[in-house]
Parts: sequence; structure tokens; C-alpha cells
Amino acid sequence: MFKLPTLPYAKTDLAPLFNEEQMTYHYDKHHKAYIDNLNKAMETDSSLKGKSLEEIVLSSSGGNFNNSAQAWNHTFYWFNMAPVGKGGKASADLETAIKRDFGSMDELKAKFVDGGMKTFGSGWIWLCTDASGKLSLVSTSNAAVPFTNNGPAPIMVADVWEHAYYVDYRNLRLKYLETFWSQVNWDYVSQCYASKKVQDLTKAMTA
Ligand code: FE
Repeated sequence: MFKLPTLPYAKTDLAPLFNEEQMTYHYDKHHKAYIDNLNKAMETDSSLKGKSLEEIVLSSSGGNFNNSAQAWNHTFYWFNMAPVGKGGKASADLETAIKRDFGSMDELKAKFVDGGMKTFGSGWIWLCTDASGKLSLVSTSNAAVPFTNNGPAPIMVADVWEHAYYVDYRNLRLKYLETFWSQVNWDYVSQCYASKKVQDLTKAMTA
């Protein structure tokens, strides 16, 4: 059984990025529904038993993939945002890699926001690292994650499903993505970069 992760901040603390209503819909309704659906499937589908959330994401398809990946994606998303002034900064290693692979932090921001804008329909825009530390941007559709088929490990993500921003921003995805950038939890992103691995979120989500 999986559960919603405990948020590392109060639902009111992400303002001005999100107000409480946006957070309540997204976390308590959308994210919870994916977890509830996955738990329901686990009651009857023996192929899911005893597996970590990451193992289910990597080995399932159809509805089980959609629910497990969305359960994982949202937890990672919550962990990579922070209240204003609490996001720390990129580690020296990450900053060096950003300069090497994107030119500057400003250019990374421009490409990340552009990648989010160009993600058609519902999906996610990810900053990823390979095992050697090379950074890349990956756009995925619906529930898809970058790390299937030996793809790179995520270090940052923005949810660009309309449910992520419609309460606060209506159709203004650009304004949402630019505000997201100002509340990235760089301490978390830097930890993920240092590990060079897909984050183990199962512990934070085990009931
Ligand atoms: Fe979402």
C-alpha cells in the first residue's frame, strides 16, 4: 500500500506560486486518486505485490503504469518546490554542469520554460542527468517518465497538466512556469544531481 507523501511545507506556504485551493485540488484530489487507484489494483494484481513504486513504474503498462508513474511524478514534483526564500541554491557541481550543458542558468530557465510550453496537451518537463552527470531536458506526455528504457534520471520537474495550474493561472502556462522557476528547491535538485540516480520515493510513500 502506498500513501500520499508528507509535504515538506504547509499547503499555504507555496504562495505566490500556488494558493491553498490549487494545492488542495492537486495534492488531495488528483495525486491521491492515482495512489488510491494503484492501491486498488494491488489488491487483485499479484504482479504488483512486494515491489517498490519505482519497480512498478519500470515493469508495468496501461493503467498500472499510468497510476504508479503519476504517483511517483507528483511526489517528485512536490519535493522539488519550496516556499519563497527557502529553496537554497544550486550546488557548485550542478552549477558547473548547467554552464557546460546550457551556457548559463538563464539559458537553462529559458529552455526549460520553452520545453514546458511546447509539451503538447498533458505532460511533464524534466531536467535530467545521465550517470556521467550530463544534463538534458526531456518532455513527456501524460504519465510518462524519462527513466524507462534506461533513460536519464530526473533531477527537476514541472507538471504541465492543466490541473497543475488552472485554479491559479487559468490558461496562462507561461506565467505558471516562470513562477515555478522562482520557487525551485535547488537544495533538493542538487541532492538529486549528486546521486545521479532515480530517486527512491517509495520510503516517503509507504503506508
Ligand atoms: Fe498533476
